[in-house]
Amino acid sequence: MHSKVRVLTCGLAVLFGALPLLAQSDLDQRVGKEMDSLVATYKHLHENPELSTQEKESSAIVAAELRKLGYDVTDHFGQYDSPSLISYGIVGVLRNGPGPTVYVRTDMDALPIVENTGLPYASHVKVKRADGAEVGVMHACGHDIHMSVFIGTARMLAQLKNQWSGTLILIGQPAEEMVSGARAMLRAGLFTKFPKPDYVLALHDGSNFPAGQVGWHEGTVLAGGDSVDITVRGYGGHGAAPQAAKDPIVIASEIVVALQTIVSREMDPQLPTVVTVGSFHAGTKHNIIPDEAHLQLTVRTMNPAQREKVLAAITRIANGIAAAAGVPAERAPVIEIATDYVPATINNPELTRRVAGALERALGKDNVLPSEPAMASEDFSLYALQDPKPPICMLSLGAADPAKFHAAKEKGMRLPGPHSSEFAPVPEPTIRTGVKAMTSAVLDLLKK
Ligand SMILES: [Zn+2]
Ligand SMILES: [Zn+2]
Repeated sequence: MHSKVRVLTCGLAVLFGALPLLAQSDLDQRVGKEMDSLVATYKHLHENPELSTQEKESSAIVAAELRKLGYDVTDHFGQYDSPSLISYGIVGVLRNGPGPTVYVRTDMDALPIVENTGLPYASHVKVKRADGAEVGVMHACGHDIHMSVFIGTARMLAQLKNQWSGTLILIGQPAEEMVSGARAMLRAGLFTKFPKPDYVLALHDGSNFPAGQVGWHEGTVLAGGDSVDITVRGYGGHGAAPQAAKDPIVIASEIVVALQTIVSREMDPQLPTVVTVGSFHAGTKHNIIPDEAHLQLTVRTMNPAQREKVLAAITRIANGIAAAAGVPAERAPVIEIATDYVPATINNPELTRRVAGALERALGKDNVLPSEPAMASEDFSLYALQDPKPPICMLSLGAADPAKFHAAKEKGMRLPGPHSSEFAPVPEPTIRTGVKAMTSAVLDLLKK
């Protein structure tokens, strides 16, 4: 009896083990059939980049693709702070029976960079900025790769509707580079006008991995970013009569130096923190002590408690040094923390482990690797903070030419990555891997 049960169990195990493999080769074939069209779309998007808040044509391409596939599409979704700006956000909904709701996000905007890749499909786009200056435009962050993977994923999940149950919501987000697009879509009611998310997924390409591989990281994967303005107020006067003034340049200089002790003396060395003073402006002439000095800081932190601690230290140091110099309380520094800060992107550990498992089955264990967090910031983080505060996961998609990647690694060099004028993702197999990864992740989260 026992042995019979065991035999039966083993048989079932083989049978169940075989099913995902069959499904896998089916997915491989389906993705393969779409590759020519996806690479063509990618090259078109790459050659025709649009700056943040200007994603008119790119969003139209994405929206048209989703409509063709039967998604219920809302376009021009989102509301920026500035009422004169149009949001080109897209929400595509595919309802497919009972089950959880999974959101997949792509960004769509490019950067003001003159492309220097020499690729046959390089961008030659130039636009005039509001101040009249001409700037080059380039998909230097690879959001064109993200859109192509997104379209491929939309096609796969529409074709494979019999393999999943639930609601799929695909969002095309504008203005990531200005970190205002996610806020615009959430403000317009993304999670109230559409089904509430149970999970939110995204990926970002880069040169940290060769094309064909995907990286994952539990917990904080990208830092939070704050901009802080400090106006140091003293009392101006003649440069030859410092005794009659309170010199804001000297006070601000002491503040700049003291701010360095936040990272070196106050923060846990195990937890990355950045406090950079990127701008220091004061005065007009040699012999005048000005009334004010202005500092501009960027702050990067890995979690909300750390952020509070750093911002409190900046405030304490600025106020304390001004007081020590004899500046009265009514002339204390004015410290302004910008309201459009981006919190750290924190990948939900449970979701990330589950997705990594699905990816290992889809791509093979050797192609799914732990990745390192970075101090850059992303507004993808905001989706995790809006009610119902869904678990989020952003994957790292390898986009580097594998031969160049290994050659650079041997020399101890790194290939140009996002925001470089020379960042050149290889469309194949980057897009193929991205589509397989994202499709497999969603199929796992919405499995019947
Ligand atoms: Zn970027
Ligand atoms: Zn980006």
